[in-house]
Amino acid sequence: MNRIFIIAALLLTACGGQPASSAGTADSPVLASSTLLADIAQHVAGGRFHVDSLLPVGADPHSYQYTPQDVTKVADAQLLIVNGAGYERFLDTLLENAGGEREVATASAGLSSGLESGDPHFWLDPNNVIAYVENIREALTHLDPDGAAEFKSNADAYVVELRELDAWIAEQVNQIPVEKRLLVTNHEAFGYFAKRYGFTIVGSVLESFSSDASPSAQQMAGLIDQIKSTNAPAIFLDAGDNPALARQIADETDVRVVADLHLESLTDGAPAATYIDMMKYNVTQIVNALK
Ligand SMILES: [Zn+2]
Repeated sequence: MNRIFIIAALLLTACGGQPASSAGTADSPVLASSTLLADIAQHVAGGRFHVDSLLPVGADPHSYQYTPQDVTKVADAQLLIVNGAGYERFLDTLLENAGGEREVATASAGLSSGLESGDPHFWLDPNNVIAYVENIREALTHLDPDGAAEFKSNADAYVVELRELDAWIAEQVNQIPVEKRLLVTNHEAFGYFAKRYGFTIVGSVLESFSSDASPSAQQMAGLIDQIKSTNAPAIFLDAGDNPALARQIADETDVRVVADLHLESLTDGAPAATYIDMMKYNVTQIVNALK
């Protein structure tokens, strides 16, 4: 925790006579929109700040409806870290309702150029998370210049872990025969992952970068044809997705439904307690289904 905020909290308690719990918001001047962003940012912030996640574990940022408590949290935050690229559709009205002023740092800033897609799921390639780390380091340094050296060394150490993760994923993917590196997913989330690790995207149940779209009968039939013609072995879903449509498709194509990936949220404890754990878990599920 930042010493300044301990002092601020003590002063609040001493002068205002407020119960200690009301000073609790001063514990988290840094807020991230999602659990996985909070974990990434926490690695950079180290001991100087506790980074809170706005969304709870298991919430899907694509379809999230914010609460009055969220408005209060954002109103109290000095720095809000978001993914960007249209991922947090609740953001504009949430910021409007929160009022006041704060830094809003976009973790994916600088990454969207050169990509035609509009896909916000940059984090599924750890190399993109290295760019997130740099953007987060800059934002934290702006908020707390005295922490600059600490943020830098925290960021450097985490980047080493992210490079190790990237190498680990490539090594795992090598177990899958090249012709079986085929991804069918619930929504279009795997573009960056596929590009980095040499997968072909066969299709998705929802032809959308978001999880709250709904497909037409023609789209479903088209995907069934693609699965049959490519012999894709599995359909991959996030644990939070409704598996009904994927199961219908699986009934007609004899593919496996892997319905427990974690793409948008960490879990409370295993298997996806951290971003790195989440990626390792997902890759293991994918490799087991395709190898
Ligand atoms: Zn998504």
